[in-house]
Amino acid sequence: MIAQPTQISLVAGSGEGSDEATASEQAWKGAGLTGASLLPLQSGLLRGVRPAPLEPIHFGQLMPALSAHHGSAVVGERIAAAVALGLDSRGQGVVRAVAGPGDADSQVAEAERRVKSALRAHGLPLKEMHVAQAEHTVRERGCVVAAAVLWTDVREREPDWATEAWTPHVHCRFRVRERLFTARSAFQRIDIVDTVEFGRMLLLDHTVQTTERDEWAYHEMLAWVPLMVHPHPKRVLIVGGGDGGLLRAVLACPEVEEAVQVEIDRLVVEACKEHLSELSRGAFGDPRARVVYEDAFTFLERVGEPFDVALLDTTDPIGPAERLFTAEFYGRVAGALGEEGVAAAQSGSPWFQPEVIARSVSAMQSGFPTVRVYLGSVPAYPGGLWTFTLGSRGRDPLSVPEAELAERFQSLQQEARFFSPQVYRAAFALPPFVRSLLPQDPNP
Ligand code: SAM
Repeated sequence: MIAQPTQISLVAGSGEGSDEATASEQAWKGAGLTGASLLPLQSGLLRGVRPAPLEPIHFGQLMPALSAHHGSAVVGERIAAAVALGLDSRGQGVVRAVAGPGDADSQVAEAERRVKSALRAHGLPLKEMHVAQAEHTVRERGCVVAAAVLWTDVREREPDWATEAWTPHVHCRFRVRERLFTARSAFQRIDIVDTVEFGRMLLLDHTVQTTERDEWAYHEMLAWVPLMVHPHPKRVLIVGGGDGGLLRAVLACPEVEEAVQVEIDRLVVEACKEHLSELSRGAFGDPRARVVYEDAFTFLERVGEPFDVALLDTTDPIGPAERLFTAEFYGRVAGALGEEGVAAAQSGSPWFQPEVIARSVSAMQSGFPTVRVYLGSVPAYPGGLWTFTLGSRGRDPLSVPEAELAERFQSLQQEARFFSPQVYRAAFALPPFVRSLLPQDPNP
């Protein structure tokens, strides 16, 4: 669930030899990297990176590096290289490497200057700058100084594992049996893999979205809790949810007459229909379902007939989903709902994403008079314990009568594997540490 930044380290070293390859190798050894094969990567805009301290490097671990070389045949000449990384507060940034005659200070200054001007060009304010440098005096003919950005990102280099970084220091790895689909859409990198323990799994930008093993625990709670809060849920809006699991859960309710799903990325839906069909189980072909391929933020500018329930099954608040975690978006969601309208959103892990919960609750409170947080359990997500935030324009979830829950559950009982009327009640009981994460306690 968490799109954690790629970790990188900056290194620099120098070496000398009769050709660039020999000198390069020495340069890398000088930076403490042995047996490494370097893949050059063009200097570019990085999204969501965080520098990590340089750890011991093993052979094969060095994946793509950005290098700067300067060859010189002038014995006694002083040459230097520097690599600089500038980041904004969200961990987006640029990296530049330079090498040439002079001392390290001048190369560092040049690398920093290039980083600042590139950041300006991308409209990113500089929050932190990281630099590595190397200096060298030419002893014989042929010399290279090299500087590199080192990706210590395990996710790219281990095809047998699907790895999600829950934090820079906690990674979760799922053994992959087969890689079924990999593509980069206009919005994100999409992977569908078959894992040994969790079955087929969808990852977007290396972040686990859903798995065959536990998807029902997530989708039942995101769909059926708010559907029970609304007394007569006929029209349902789904935001995101490209895998189709939520659509299936919504359409399992016989009261639902129409489900409109607004998904920004058509490729996610197409890939999931082909490789993850166990989730949607034909729901995309249900006559009550309609999929609109659009950014939900703009879709909600012009909604006609009001919805009864809106379900937000989006990626984390970075990239295309960033605007979906704002008060402005929740205002639009509330405006698209009828008088008794109910909205619910997945709102992250209390262990690993406390800020997402606080943000979702605040945003929901700006659009809805009643806001409640409830819990579920999704083992493939960070920490397993999961939060959902519900906003209601009508009924308080805590006031739904027992008899009504029991009666409406009857039509779902066949399919239910996580949800039950008892689980519905229990889900609103929050441990004190979860309560303490909320801006204003919505479950007093
Ligand atoms: N259960 C998942 C989770 O929380 O990890 C979410 C699954 S679903 C695959 C998330 C979907 O939200 C993705 O397919 C993504 O394309 C979609 N999405 C992201 N931003 C969006 C936007 N602005 N409008 C509509 N859909 C969006």
